[in-house]
Amino acid sequence: MSRIVFVSNRLPITIDKTSDGLEFKPSIGGLATGLSSVHSADSSLWIGWCGRSRQELSTAEVREISRRLPEDFASHPVYLTERELNQYYYGFCNRTLWPLFHYFNNHAHYDHQQWQSYQQVNRKFFKTVAEVINEEDTIWIHDYQLMLLPAMIRERFPKAKIGFFLHIPFPSYELFRLLPWRSEILQGLLGADLIGFHAYDYVRHFISSVRRLLGYDHNLGYIDMRNRLVKADVFPMGIDYQRYQNAHLLKEVREETNEIIDKVKGTQLVLSVDRLDYTKGIPTRLKSFDQFLEKYPAYKEKVTMIMIVAPSRTELSDYHELLCEIEELVGHINGKHGSIGWVPVWFFYRSFGFNHLTALYSVADIMLVTPLRDGMNLVAKEYVAARVDYKGMLVISETAGAASELGEAVSVNANNIREVADGIKTALEMPAVEKIERNKAMHDRLARYNVEFWANDFLRRLNNVEEVQRINSSQQLDEETDKKLLTDAEKAEKRLFLLDYDTSLTGFSDPKNGGRPNKELYELLRRLAEDRHNEVLIVSGSNKSAMQDWFGDLNIHLAAAHGLWIRRIGGEWETTEIPTEEWKETLRPLLEMHTARTPGSYIEEKDHSLAWHYRRCDPELAAVRVSELKDAFEDLTGNLNIGLINGNRQIEIKDSSINKGRIASILLNEKKWEFIFAVGDDWSDEELFVILPSSAYSIKIGIGMSHANYRVESTQELRNLLHRLVAVCSNKNSPTNKG
Ligand code: UDP
Repeated sequence: MSRIVFVSNRLPITIDKTSDGLEFKPSIGGLATGLSSVHSADSSLWIGWCGRSRQELSTAEVREISRRLPEDFASHPVYLTERELNQYYYGFCNRTLWPLFHYFNNHAHYDHQQWQSYQQVNRKFFKTVAEVINEEDTIWIHDYQLMLLPAMIRERFPKAKIGFFLHIPFPSYELFRLLPWRSEILQGLLGADLIGFHAYDYVRHFISSVRRLLGYDHNLGYIDMRNRLVKADVFPMGIDYQRYQNAHLLKEVREETNEIIDKVKGTQLVLSVDRLDYTKGIPTRLKSFDQFLEKYPAYKEKVTMIMIVAPSRTELSDYHELLCEIEELVGHINGKHGSIGWVPVWFFYRSFGFNHLTALYSVADIMLVTPLRDGMNLVAKEYVAARVDYKGMLVISETAGAASELGEAVSVNANNIREVADGIKTALEMPAVEKIERNKAMHDRLARYNVEFWANDFLRRLNNVEEVQRINSSQQLDEETDKKLLTDAEKAEKRLFLLDYDTSLTGFSDPKNGGRPNKELYELLRRLAEDRHNEVLIVSGSNKSAMQDWFGDLNIHLAAAHGLWIRRIGGEWETTEIPTEEWKETLRPLLEMHTARTPGSYIEEKDHSLAWHYRRCDPELAAVRVSELKDAFEDLTGNLNIGLINGNRQIEIKDSSINKGRIASILLNEKKWEFIFAVGDDWSDEELFVILPSSAYSIKIGIGMSHANYRVESTQELRNLLHRLVAVCSNKNSPTNKG
């Protein structure tokens, strides 16, 4: 039976040590609640750390945990030692990845030992995963603690369906490149089929880092890893909307709410709720409130801020220093603005439970959420959902992931103290009808895109990715087809080989020698050509003098400049068409302008074509320029018979009447071929594939939509196939076979 296997650093279960023994409690948090709808005992399981170090547990307790978790909670524990927790969790996760991914490079430490521990703990998780999963399970890995795990699973279980979700931001390439182990992290993530992020900006940054650091291009979020497609997409995580919306109906929440109203004595309430973290912008928020009271003194004694800071990661000195700074600022504001009977900031350094928190949400006039950087921020959504009378207003910073979904809130720049101060005033003074209208829109969205929707949407899309991968690999040249191809080749009396040279056969060429074929290819072509049953055509975008130089001595047909020139076996070079040239003058200035604006690019003038090369350019900039060039090209060439070929890191513009298909058709029509074999790897080869009869073996190298019947993953694979083909051809010609 196929199951969903969730893997996260922490299991959604809390284990308390009491005088009566171990007590197991399911935790109620965003992720655990969200996945509870899809995490039911018979169809899923959860793998994670149980929350206590190995040293804290006796052997008997470990035995009990290992028995109870699978039996009662469909979960499997990973045990971590104190040293691992220090090096991996408090070290690499929280002192390297967390600050760097939140744009706090000044807090980031790069420690090789901690990196080793991170790898080792990911392997430990892998070991547990490998012990419990089946081939047909869907695996969903969560967050930055386990970014190496997808590739580890992929290596051992190549067919596994793996999803990964990052709950924190993915930083821009400029930040990410600072990580000494950046490529390893990307390779680790790319083991997944689907990688989810909270916001589109994070998807963009991830794709850009993949392209720049690993050289993999993408199309509509599908990253082309040459042998596999990986999808990166956005899935903003929702909340358990009903739970927050219905909270005010609970008796305990109602009582708590009345008590708060009584205590704040008619002042308006500004609420602030965070875990202690430097990413949350708590000191700047306090400074903004200070500024608000200073700038708008009429609000003194009329507005109270309740600030809740839940303790977190206090083992780390950065967090301890932050707490001191917050306490100092609270003291400063209260001392400066407070009066007998009015304390401007009520500060609580402790964690509040659901009832307390939702009681506060339901009466707060303003919810102030101003992180400097936050992957999502659930507090913002929880507040909107819990304030059911629509009378409150959220003030949120642009750098919170949730801001893009909560466009009706008052949006501020968290670093702009004046703007936040004004934002508080705007929200306080907003007319009731406007608040209702804005809140209603946000409620509708939160109700629809709740956490259950998020989880199901992710899993649904993971299945879709599998479907796209299946379509893209449906033409994979499998063992059976390979065998049939060789048998057909062996049987045939008249064989035609149509081979694209550029990049398709580069596995054979010598890059230091200007693209000249190496000995292996030369020998292969010679052997194919000497067989009287075979005719071989090599087609290239290169000019005829290069082709003559490289292949002139062979008994094969040669086509240069995409088929403008042809040299038949034993013949001379001749043009197949008299193409127009005037268009070059129209288009050259366009290419020159793009070259000037794109460092590293250059123009190559070929026989009857112009090529713009961008191999050595910044890939992001080149992508923009290519799309600009295509737009401008269409405007300029509306009624000219000119085509644009998007090749491998180059754009070639040529007369449309010249194409590989047209040149191949000359040979195709000459004889009744019994075996046709064609290979290519880019758009220009599609012109060839499309004209071939369905019985032909047309082969595309790499992935991407194609008219070819089959595909192989790499030039290496093609090379092996060509060797086998040469072998069967010579087999047929051997004296025994000739009878
Ligand atoms: N939370 C809580 N008690 C507190 C403070 C926060 O239960 O005293 C919860 C809050 O309801 C929210 C979560 O902690 O669900 C914080 O999530 P968020 O995305 O806002 O920030 P994170 O802590 O994940 O960075």
